[in-house]
Amino acid sequence: IQLANQIAAGEVVERPSSVVKELVENSLDAGASSIEIDIERGGHKRIRIRDDGTGIPKEELTLALSPHATSKIASLEDLEAIGSLGFRGEALASISAVSRLTLTTKPQAQSEAWSAYAQGREMGVEIEPAAHPDGTTIDVVDLFYNTPARRKFLRAEKTEFQHIEDTVKRIALSRPFITFVLKHNGKVVKRFLGNKKQALENRISQVCGKGFLDQAVYASVEYDGVTLNGWIGARSAMRSSTDMQFCFVNGRAMRDKLLLHAIRQAYETVYCDIEQPSYVLFLNLSPEEVDVNVHPAKHEVRFHNARQIHDLVCKCIQDALVEDEG
Ligand code: ADP
Ligand code: MG
Repeated sequence: IQLANQIAAGEVVERPSSVVKELVENSLDAGASSIEIDIERGGHKRIRIRDDGTGIPKEELTLALSPHATSKIASLEDLEAIGSLGFRGEALASISAVSRLTLTTKPQAQSEAWSAYAQGREMGVEIEPAAHPDGTTIDVVDLFYNTPARRKFLRAEKTEFQHIEDTVKRIALSRPFITFVLKHNGKVVKRFLGNKKQALENRISQVCGKGFLDQAVYASVEYDGVTLNGWIGARSAMRSSTDMQFCFVNGRAMRDKLLLHAIRQAYETVYCDIEQPSYVLFLNLSPEEVDVNVHPAKHEVRFHNARQIHDLVCKCIQDALVEDEG
């Protein structure tokens, strides 16, 4: 119970894109190689994620929908060194509490598929036979139907879908070997095919457009177990929006203040008239050096050695920009 409390870091379900993020992360944790994300009306009406991952054995179905049931950690020590993406065991339970959620799944070793849906927190989980290939589909219908206050905060369908698309792009960049298909109202909006060769470069072109890498500067540094590498937009490609700013810490997309500050400072030192820089950066360090359980939606991290990380990132980008200028 204490563990549960420590993990219960607030609400995960802010808006449709947070549902997409949690469910796609579950698919990745389940080893999926292909994930289809089907959205109706900006996610207001439906969010359906289908994967070809391990599936969930019938006897674990009820548990998967229960609060604080995670198959991914056993103790607080594990929490310190989290490898998998999900770790709080509350996503499915939280989402099913504010929507009509159906989970259909078939593990390879099991001959039949089963569907499960939660009938409100008290009434338990209903299970029935279903048809489904190996893998899992999670169908979330009528998000916030029973929480009018939060439903009121949903933005226009277009805006919510934009958030979903951003979320999918971020995750797709962090997993270049995985195929992602994003549909809106029945139409394919994005198709990121998993690559074997030059996977990362191909994926960046798919997500950021073919031109991005041509004009970008490659930056990389390794120091004291910390590595940073990625592509940063040179002056000629400055944009006025933030939609081309991607930062990953140990494979997770982050909008961390410290990193944003370090990047901005590097640009400001080299160019004085900078607007919004574009970049795709990957920071990797030992999991013990970083605390990812700071923010429930996991956008923020806490580096144990914050100053060192900040300066390393700043200097690396600065050097790459200066070299490109010179
Ligand atoms: P967490 O991811 O933090 O463990 P969730 O509530 O997101 O918690 O999921 C609960 C459990 O349900 C997971 O630990 C996992 O065992 C199972 N699960 C959820 N989604 C999938 C999926 N797409 N494929 C296989 N198992 C899944
Ligand atoms: Mg999860």
